[in-house]
Amino acid sequence: MPVAKGNGYGFTLGRLARKAQWLRDRGHDVTTLAVGTYDEIAEVATRWQGDILVLTPWRPFIPATTAPLPDSVAKRVVHTVSRLADLEQLLTLAPHSRLVLERTTSMQRHGMSGRELWEAGEVLRRHPAGRLEGVALHLPLAQGSHLGEVSRLLVDYVAAAVPKRGADTVWISHLTDAELATLREQYGDFSIRPRIGTQLWLGDRGALRVTATVLDVHPVERGDSFGYRGRTAPKSGHLLVVSGGTAHGIGLEAPTGDSSMKARAATLARGGLDAVGFVRSPYSIDGKQRLFAEPPHMQASMLFLPHGARVPAVGDRIDVRVRYTATSFDRVVIEG
Ligand SMILES: *Cc1c(COP(=O)(O)O)cnc(C)c1O
Repeated sequence: MPVAKGNGYGFTLGRLARKAQWLRDRGHDVTTLAVGTYDEIAEVATRWQGDILVLTPWRPFIPATTAPLPDSVAKRVVHTVSRLADLEQLLTLAPHSRLVLERTTSMQRHGMSGRELWEAGEVLRRHPAGRLEGVALHLPLAQGSHLGEVSRLLVDYVAAAVPKRGADTVWISHLTDAELATLREQYGDFSIRPRIGTQLWLGDRGALRVTATVLDVHPVERGDSFGYRGRTAPKSGHLLVVSGGTAHGIGLEAPTGDSSMKARAATLARGGLDAVGFVRSPYSIDGKQRLFAEPPHMQASMLFLPHGARVPAVGDRIDVRVRYTATSFDRVVIEG
C-alpha cells in the first residue's frame, strides 16, 4: 500500500496519487492508497480510483472538521479505528463504514490493547453492517527484528475472533523484505500488505537532486551594510541572493562546529565567519556548504561568499541539502 501524505514526500500528493494509479494500471497488486489525514482525501480522490485508507485514527470530531465527502468517495474510504469508544460511535453514525482496527505496538502511538481488540469483536457483532478490513500495525523503524512482536500482536488479533468480511488483511509498516517473506510463510491465510512511503518514493536518493537558483550577486567590502537588520560585512566578498526561504521550509541550521568560547575565539583568530555570527546554510557551492548572511527570508535567502571563492552567475543553479518530507518545492521536474 503506497502512502501519500504530508507534502507528498516532496512530490505533492496529487503526483503520488497519479503514480499509484499508474502502478495499478500496470497490473501491480495495489488496491489501496493510504493518506495521512482526512483533509488529504480530496487531494487524491480524483487522481486515484481505488480505496483510500486514512492512517490517522478516526475521532468523533472528524466529521466536524472535514467537508462531507461525496458518496462516491465516501464508499472508497477505509477508516483506522484505534479506540473502542470511537468504534461504537463511528458505526452508530455511519453503520456501513469500512474500517481497520489498529493494535498498539512498541511505538505507543495509537491503537488498542489485546483486551480491547477482543471487546471490539463484541462491538462489531452489535453493528453487523460495519465492514472490518483487517488489522493495522505501526512498527518503529527497525532496531533488530520485528517478527517476535508482530507474532505476539497477531496472536491477539486471532484470539479476538472479530467478525470479518473476506480475507484477513494485516496492514503493516517498516518491515524488511525478509521479515515480510517470513510473515507470509507463517501466516498463510493472512494477506500481508506493507504500507510504504519513504522506501517507495525516496528509495533511490541518487536519482534526486534539489537545486536553488542564484537570483542576484553583489560584491561587498568589509564594513558595507546589507539585509533587513543592517548588518555589516565582516570582510570583503559577495552577497548572493538565492531562491528558497522560510516558505519552502528553509531554516537556520546549527552554527558551524563547536560553539564553546574557546572554539569561537580560535575561529575568530583564523578569521572564521561563524565566529561573527554567520550560520551554516543548506546551500552549497562547489561542494562547500555556505553561510547565511542573515536568516532566510520568505522566498529567498542571502548567503555570504568570502573573497576568493568562485562566484556563480545570476541564473546558475546551486545544490541544496534539505529533507524531502519537510520542504515545499516550487517545481518538480522528471528528467531522462
Ligand atoms: C507515514 C506512515 C507510514 C509510512 O512510513 P514511511 O516510513 O514513510 O514508509 C506507514 N504507516 C503509518 C501509520 C504512517 O503514518
